[in-house]
Amino acid sequence: MLRIRSSFAFAFFLCALFAPATLLAQPRWRAHDFSRPRPPVVTPPVQNLPVAPPSDAVVLFDGTSMDNWQAMDGTPTKWIIKNGNMEAVPGAGYIRTKQGFGDIQLHVEWAAPVPARGTSQGRGNSGVFLMGLYEVQVLDSYQNDTYPDGQAGAIYGQYPPLANVTRPPGEWQSYDIVFRRPRFNSKGELMAPARITVMHNNVLIQDNVEVWGPTEWLENKLYTAGPDRLPLAFQDHGNPVLYRNIWLRELDESAVKIDQPFQGRAVAFPDAVIARYLGTYQGTGNSYEIGKEGDHLYGAVNGRKLNLTPHSLTTFALDKTGGEFVFDLDAEGRPTGVTFHMGGGTYTAKRVN
Ligand code: MG
Repeated sequence: MLRIRSSFAFAFFLCALFAPATLLAQPRWRAHDFSRPRPPVVTPPVQNLPVAPPSDAVVLFDGTSMDNWQAMDGTPTKWIIKNGNMEAVPGAGYIRTKQGFGDIQLHVEWAAPVPARGTSQGRGNSGVFLMGLYEVQVLDSYQNDTYPDGQAGAIYGQYPPLANVTRPPGEWQSYDIVFRRPRFNSKGELMAPARITVMHNNVLIQDNVEVWGPTEWLENKLYTAGPDRLPLAFQDHGNPVLYRNIWLRELDESAVKIDQPFQGRAVAFPDAVIARYLGTYQGTGNSYEIGKEGDHLYGAVNGRKLNLTPHSLTTFALDKTGGEFVFDLDAEGRPTGVTFHMGGGTYTAKRVN
């Protein structure tokens, strides 16, 4: 450890020398960071729920049938209707609409299970996946602490809600979501990112935020060009969350103007600094590989490749995710081992090649 500390100043110098501007401009908080400040708790206003759909709405669930829905593989869904509500059946998997949608205004009413069971991400977890890719988190966040970018109304792993407006479990609450899909040109390049606005129980909690890419646990996915319309999906996360009164309005897509390419966040890495870290590290029950694919550095955790950014000579961090590889360096600065920090756990491994 002493050796690592004595090299800190040099490491900082090298890091500053090579750090690309885009790296320095990244958000201060990485995904799932438990030390991030919690949004303020706001008591929601009295609401008249359910909210009847306007005349031009596509009604996806009115309490009578699951005809507009199916399992993700296209087979009939195993979610059930109970007392006019749609219930997520643990283990039944996600559901999706049979129809695809692009830009929409979406109304959803949901209620967390009673009695409340579990803690953090294990309590009343579900989710509204716009185009099946971008999750507005559904969670029982009533007196249930979790990482802010994973609480109710978060754009999962990206944006915490501006306020925690969650009602107690068992009480009906509403999401009103405005979604603008990402735009790609004919070459498949991203021209405009997706944008999301969310009202939770009539309180603004997401203000036209720019989505970084498909939402994901542990990693930050990049946009890939795809269809302009994809099914809306709801998550089974093992909790019997209830839904009712789901409707949407398809929005005029010409309202989104595109006049210049979206600025990507690709980062170039200096090969000479990176090369000595590449290889395999073996721990007890865990193996890690540090590698490169094109311009991207990755850290593979038990074979799962995650984008990686060096922050110093000793610390490489998962992109925008609260996981870090901290290397043990010998006198020549060559890694002899690594400790992977994730979700409050530390996992050590020795270099094997
Ligand atoms: Mg979820």
